[in-house]
Amino acid sequence: MIEAPPFPREDERVATLKSLGLLDTPLQERFEKITRMVRSAMRVPIAHFNLLDVDRQHLKSAQGVGGVDLPMEGSFCMHAIHEPSMLVVSDARKDPRFHDNPYVTGQFLDIRFYAGCPVRAPNGLPIGTLCAIDTKPRKMSPPCLAALRDLADMIETELRISSLSKAQEDLMAQLNAAERLARIDPLTRLWNRGGILELLEKEWSASRRHQKQVTLALVDIDCFKSINDVHGHAVGDAVIIETAKTLLASTRNEDAVGRIGGEEFLVILTQCTSDGLRDTAERMRLAVLEHAFYAGDARLPVTISCGVAAGIPQSDDGWMELMRTADESLYRAKASGRNCTEIGPRAVGAAA
Ligand code: GH3
Ligand code: MG
Ligand code: MG
Repeated sequence: MIEAPPFPREDERVATLKSLGLLDTPLQERFEKITRMVRSAMRVPIAHFNLLDVDRQHLKSAQGVGGVDLPMEGSFCMHAIHEPSMLVVSDARKDPRFHDNPYVTGQFLDIRFYAGCPVRAPNGLPIGTLCAIDTKPRKMSPPCLAALRDLADMIETELRISSLSKAQEDLMAQLNAAERLARIDPLTRLWNRGGILELLEKEWSASRRHQKQVTLALVDIDCFKSINDVHGHAVGDAVIIETAKTLLASTRNEDAVGRIGGEEFLVILTQCTSDGLRDTAERMRLAVLEHAFYAGDARLPVTISCGVAAGIPQSDDGWMELMRTADESLYRAKASGRNCTEIGPRAVGAAA
């Protein structure tokens, strides 16, 4: 195995990566969208956007591979960042640089085909890679490889703009890596209960200053216990992860999604008008209804119920009342047969 040569400005490169504030943050739909596109456009089982930290490969967004951090030893991506456009390895077992690499021999992964494009920060230094990976050898056509480079360029564009809500940007900027991790749910990589409620408080007080409406959707998977009972806990976990990703995909970048309980999620919708409430919640519900969940070959009929509440903040702690209203709406959605959305009346502490 041949390890990648050291990157000439490694310290500066890592400092640039850290300054972007992407490490150890919740999943972001703007990157999920791109890795999903890599997987479907290039028809590969694995696609990821990988951040190259000092001593780990941190998967900012990954499709088809579990885990968050991968070892640095034998990193293909550290080779790729030396390339101007991309590194392509058609059959890693036949390549003297990689044939006995732990990412090829099955110790970490089972890579045969690898295409990885360096992703550069606005200052031009490569902070990670966008990769398409297959467990079989492949020949990829030039237009297909060009599409991967185009998608890597799209990530670079994303790195130049900030598209999260101000509350999310502020919270992530205030916290160090350990504090951020303490607010992320390890199963889904969404905000956890503590993290999303902290965001809600921030969003609430900012909206109070500007007298803007805050909208909440409480989402609960229907009859989830029976999924666990029939198919086992591991399938239940997979359903929770896929539901999380589906909710994220059906909201906007500036919305925030958190897992607040076993199979329960809270979505903070920014800039959602009263007219748009039902449509937004219904978009989430229909996305889950239409998503293909599987246990082995059997398709699972997974649905969610949504309880929505909205209001313009009138008092500091009115967000708690808004949460209660959303919870009551969710209760009504469950009582009226599940797989539906209920919208609550004006919350106390909030004007309709
Ligand atoms: P309802 O439609 O009324 O919401 O019914 P439900 O079955 O979804 O709700 P209930 O509260 O009865 O059951 C939720 C189940 O979720 C019970 C619990 O064992 C399971 N659960 C909680 N956390 C996790 C988890 O992290 N993974 C898995 N697999 N199951 C979990
Ligand atoms: Mg439930
Ligand atoms: Mg529940």
